[in-house]
Amino acid sequence: MTEKHPKFERTFVIIKPDGVQRSLVGEIIKRFEQVGLKLAAMKMLVPTPEQIEKHYTLDPEWRRVTGEKTIKGYLSKGLKPPSEDPLEITAKILANLKKYLASGPVVAMVLQGAHAVQIVRKLVGGTEPLTSDVGSIRGDFVLDSYQMSDPDNRAVRNLIHASGSPKEANDEISHWFSKVDLVDYKLVQDHILYDVNLDGLLE
Ligand code: GDP
Ligand code: MG
Repeated sequence: MTEKHPKFERTFVIIKPDGVQRSLVGEIIKRFEQVGLKLAAMKMLVPTPEQIEKHYTLDPEWRRVTGEKTIKGYLSKGLKPPSEDPLEITAKILANLKKYLASGPVVAMVLQGAHAVQIVRKLVGGTEPLTSDVGSIRGDFVLDSYQMSDPDNRAVRNLIHASGSPKEANDEISHWFSKVDLVDYKLVQDHILYDVNLDGLLE
């Protein structure tokens, strides 16, 4: 069997409640559209805490990996982590994520195009807005930090979730959307983005 062309790669994005409240839905989607990605599905909803917990734990390693990453983050700043147990740390992070994401409407979408997962992660920027690159969505539109969110026992407000790998994307797309919600279609710009021969442009 031949490999599918990279143009068929899909990724999953949620514009979190702060993105909706700050009227950034259009700006965020614009950034994905202008790079050449196309929407394959989109909806607004208020997620339930159960949906959110399932979303983050689709990867059975997520609790351990995120807990370990968080502990490392504390140590690298010369700070004492609130617990040495990664799972205890993630339990708190997950509880806060449930409160944050269920607090209001979110916009969930599937984006399709070459290297969709990696391109969207690049446009979204690093997890903590304090250190997200300038020019990325998180770097340009939000100023939160773990230094502010952790003592207040809340999730860091970073506007967006985006899948971290094609496998994560597939799992998340089936978690949030039904097969019938996903639309396969051509955009007129697909020709200039992907076709080998650019014939047919001149009259
Ligand atoms: P993302 O893929 O960039 O959204 O980041 P992750 O998948 O690693 O983390 C998911 C969520 O967990 C983030 O949006 C944060 O809310 C939270 N999180 C991740 N790392 C940390 C951390 O070091 N400290 C705290 N307090 N929360 C974190
Ligand atoms: Mg992630």
